[in-house]
Amino acid sequence: MVSVFEEVKHLKHIPRKRFGQNFLNSPGVIRKIVQAIGPKPDDLMVEIGPGLAALTEPLMEAVKHLHVVEIDRDLIAGLKERFSPDKLTIHEGDALEFDFSQLIQTPERKLRVAGNLPYNISSPLLFHLAEYADQVQDMHFMLQKEVVDRMAADPGSGEFGRLSVMLQYRYWIERLFIVPPGAFTPPPKVDSAIVRLIPKTPDQMQVCDVALLGKVVTAAFGQRRKMLRKNLKDIADESLLESVGIAPTARAEEVPVEAWVRLINALSARH
Ligand code: SAM
Repeated sequence: MVSVFEEVKHLKHIPRKRFGQNFLNSPGVIRKIVQAIGPKPDDLMVEIGPGLAALTEPLMEAVKHLHVVEIDRDLIAGLKERFSPDKLTIHEGDALEFDFSQLIQTPERKLRVAGNLPYNISSPLLFHLAEYADQVQDMHFMLQKEVVDRMAADPGSGEFGRLSVMLQYRYWIERLFIVPPGAFTPPPKVDSAIVRLIPKTPDQMQVCDVALLGKVVTAAFGQRRKMLRKNLKDIADESLLESVGIAPTARAEEVPVEAWVRLINALSARH
């Protein structure tokens, strides 16, 4: 059998930029990622973008059955040739439109999601997956390091922004390790990182209107150097901000997720 690395090296498959194809070529990095995921035989695991199966193969060795979602027809043909449907179910199509809940059979067996994600769709994909968060056990992704830094940022740092609030509202987020460009074929221009997302349980999360949260943080971070009393002047007056513990003179990047949630719930209660 031709190995993944040979297929890439000899460019049997020409990587497609439009599908964000940077294939992992480093056995050491692949091992480390699979170790971080920690697959178990009975896991209900789905990999997004299997590509040439660099992660797929070791994942399949660890779990009884694996699901993958892939958009590129040429790659799907290769996967079908190499792997039996007994071990691997290939869902052909766009992960952005994929209904992940169809994989769930019993509520106790939640989904484990993994993937070296196509960078061009990483944010929309994270938001799409957030819709299924209550059916998910955990997610491990390779993303651009800069995106992971924003996802995991603490309030008060320059990286804390809309993406941090919207994802930290729903998940515990941990940056695990950095992966350099040389681990991929072709090498991307920037560093990548592995991130772990674990959905918060209902008791860990104060529920709020997510659509309103999105609207408010977009306004708040619109001009991030400005004080909130300016950026939010059409949404919340100073006394409302103070009543939920947000200083009207604060900047959006200083306000932690819990305070945003208090603000949204106060706004919702008004209507
Ligand atoms: N997992 C492989 C690896 O680590 O070497 C490939 C990773 S590559 C960065 C991204 C993969 O996602 C490619 O196989 C690409 O074809 C696939 N892909 C791109 N856009 C997609 C989409 N919208 N839905 C599903 N798969 C997609």
